[in-house]
Amino acid sequence: MGERKPRDIPKRVDHIVITCMDFRYLETIDQLLKDKHGINMLRTDFLSIGGASKGVVDGSLMPSIKIGYEKHGVKNVYIFDHIDCGGFGGQEAYDNDEQKEADDHFESQDRAQEAVHKIMPELEVVCYVIGLDGEPVER
Ligand SMILES: [Zn+2]
Repeated sequence: MGERKPRDIPKRVDHIVITCMDFRYLETIDQLLKDKHGINMLRTDFLSIGGASKGVVDGSLMPSIKIGYEKHGVKNVYIFDHIDCGGFGGQEAYDNDEQKEADDHFESQDRAQEAVHKIMPELEVVCYVIGLDGEPVER
């Protein structure tokens, strides 16, 4: 695989993965994508920004999502928010109440999904909020 050059790899890909910049969660997200969706994170269009779903809601990531959709054939968008996210003010902003913080993320993800569907209704949007224990938080 290391021998493969970018020119040898087709640019069409089914998925965009959007994560927060927070490195603590990347291994967990990589494992979850493999286990639950059979996706190798190194074979996705990958976007990373502080606050993850916030970058979709405020429009920052939308041009990149459109490129994935229009030029690379992307069909699914995975959005990974997480607990104790600096982009949401950290745990302190929620008195260390994980469910309270998660609810804010779910609301942000709903808005992100709406924003994506407004422009690209065919895209499937799958959202997770990852807790400090590495497990997805239940809605
Ligand atoms: Zn974060």
